[in-house]
Amino acid sequence: MTIIKFPHRWQNGNCRIDIYEDGTKYRTWPDGAEPQPRYPESLDLLITKMCTIGCSFCYMNAQPNGAHADLDWLKFSLAKLPAGVELALGGGDPLAYPQLEELLKWCRNRGLICNITIRNCGDNLAPVYELQKRNLVQGVGISGWDNYFDRNYAGKKPRNVVYHYIMGIDNPLDVVDDVHYLTRLYSDNYHSQLPGILILGYKHTGRAANTQPNIDLWHYWWPRIANNGSMKIAFDNLAIDQLDLPYWFKSHDKYAQYQARYMGADGEFTMYVNGVDRTYAVNSVSDEMPFDELNIADAFTSLQRDQRGLL
Ligand code: SF4
Repeated sequence: MTIIKFPHRWQNGNCRIDIYEDGTKYRTWPDGAEPQPRYPESLDLLITKMCTIGCSFCYMNAQPNGAHADLDWLKFSLAKLPAGVELALGGGDPLAYPQLEELLKWCRNRGLICNITIRNCGDNLAPVYELQKRNLVQGVGISGWDNYFDRNYAGKKPRNVVYHYIMGIDNPLDVVDDVHYLTRLYSDNYHSQLPGILILGYKHTGRAANTQPNIDLWHYWWPRIANNGSMKIAFDNLAIDQLDLPYWFKSHDKYAQYQARYMGADGEFTMYVNGVDRTYAVNSVSDEMPFDELNIADAFTSLQRDQRGLL
């Protein structure tokens, strides 16, 4: 059994990884060398396609009768990953996965760090809070924040929360309001760690193919969201692309800052694993390849070869 304590340091190829309790991560490698990770630092892991919420913008077309990943296959695939690797368990609704607790315990006992992504709906936060109290879940991503819901859970709220906003779906003006509201709420009432914000790019697949994305509004508003002064803001690679952030930072003479914080392209240190269909890819909207007999560590090596054109 390898239950890790934070901060946790581990060696991944020639990279040294330091990860903290709130998810903050530092990656270093020898001067003059290229980073050469042996394992993915984090996995976007689909464990179920089941979800009863029925959002009209669901990019993966999750259904109430969606299939689940096979637990034995998940264990086989994850078995060679070292302690310190992060798993972002998602769906569908990961809380609908029938063996969620068994999977979480198995991962914790191997030092794998489980984060979970849920939609703010019904009574979703209560079970996640309980799982986190038992150290089965580390970080919690929540999409669809609203202040009634947040207040309702004051005092028994998960830690290490990151609110997810989806470009093209969420209105950035609402995010500006949310940031002001949350900053006040936390400093006046909770006196605890502020949640973070993750801005996700728009995926043109599944039911999201039928929505009219509001990307232009995001181009205008994201700097005001980011300049709020208190809350940490992060972007996934799709959002970075859709907002053309490298260009923005270059034209504002802040490119060095951007590069220092950039955590790498999809597939460079991360990968997507579709546990339901037993396929893998650089991210959830790329072409997926079958695992066949590969485990995740081997599949990551194969992805890296593809990325570098070494096949
Ligand atoms: S977007 Fe998320 S919450 Fe909504 S239907 Fe899809 S999986 Fe369920």
